Amino acid sequence: MDLYEYQARDLFGAHGVPVLAGGVVTTSEQAGAAAAELDGTVVVKAQVKAGGRGKAGGVQLATTPQEARRKAAAILGMDIKGHTVRRVLVTPACDIVAEYYLSFILDRTHRSFLAMASVQGGMDIEEVAATAPEALAKVPVDPVAGVDARKAAEIVQAAGFPAEVAGAVADTVLKLWEVFVAEDATLVEVNPLVRDRQGAIIALDGKVTLDDNAGFRHPDHAELADPANQDPLEVRAKARHLNYVKLDGQVGIIGNGAGLVMSTLDVVAYAGQAHGGMKPANFLDIGGGANAQVMADGLDIILGDPDVHAVFVNVFGGITACDQVATGIVQALNILGDAAAKPLVVRLDGNNVAEGRRILADAAHPLVTMVDTMDAAADKAAELAALTFAKGA
Ligand code: GDP
Ligand code: MN
Repeated sequence: MDLYEYQARDLFGAHGVPVLAGGVVTTSEQAGAAAAELDGTVVVKAQVKAGGRGKAGGVQLATTPQEARRKAAAILGMDIKGHTVRRVLVTPACDIVAEYYLSFILDRTHRSFLAMASVQGGMDIEEVAATAPEALAKVPVDPVAGVDARKAAEIVQAAGFPAEVAGAVADTVLKLWEVFVAEDATLVEVNPLVRDRQGAIIALDGKVTLDDNAGFRHPDHAELADPANQDPLEVRAKARHLNYVKLDGQVGIIGNGAGLVMSTLDVVAYAGQAHGGMKPANFLDIGGGANAQVMADGLDIILGDPDVHAVFVNVFGGITACDQVATGIVQALNILGDAAAKPLVVRLDGNNVAEGRRILADAAHPLVTMVDTMDAAADKAAELAALTFAKGA
């Protein structure tokens, strides 16, 4: 889960990373009131989960509450990289002397963590990495050893921070690492980390990605989720405890076991090349003990996706035998009734497969096509999807 800037700011603040005051508001009137309360020049900042807000006009200075109200009115409703601005953060303006960059990320390639730091912050860090790679220090962090004062000093030195800020920046590095670990983040980024006229070091803009897999350890993180910003199908799937990820293709996928579903995605993407580029529309793992209700819930989500033109149910009977799965599919189609209106290709294999296939054959549901192998089933599903997709149905 990616956080908004103001949420990142609040987490930073809770762990002692120096941040600015100010509040988030949803109307221009509230922005004016917030500015009046802060007393002095303020910055009105668009809250969207996209970078480059500054360049897009989403970060603006205002010297009076009236101006803050006008700037907020201009920013609210703005479209930044496809994200509509629904709230703005009003913070005291900062008298910036230097802009730096600081981050910790989960480095999947090296199965480790990585600290990145630069004295050329503020601008697009990808651009710095591309045009002046020597200006972006990358320091691997051992996940077990973590970051102590010595490691923090190493990071600060690698980036070449000036001596007069080295101590304060190292302190911020330590606090930021604390955020990363304590909150189970996969990314914490500060850009820019600034030095102000008084010599203080402040995290002026923050980005945080929380690891959803660690959500069970953080009941307080649930309230950070923004339903308006989530895919409605993913929200529905989550409410039913289904492992669902929306993708951008046309073939709905249901399988049991994450490994099988992952390979089903590959097989469908490959088969789809021969059928006008049909692709998987989602990932959905109904797990090991998939009963009729779970199958109905899964089918309901997938059939409710307007992008889906055909569904591929790929089940390998293990703990749950094929006859139970077949019964589940038949019952699910009964539960759904007219809501089930897209062709289903079912491939069953494994434990008790003969009985499973017999149950489906006996039911003879008009929407269901049984295919015995995974490759042939993927091909059939892609073919059926292409049929109605081409018609624009
Ligand atoms: P981003 O463009 O989405 O990364 O938004 P930022 O919050 O990083 O702001 C972009 C730029 O606006 C910063 O790099 C600063 O140069 C400038 N900026 C942001 N806040 C202030 C402020 O309080 N005072 C001044 N002078 N500039 C600011
Ligand atoms: Mn920024």
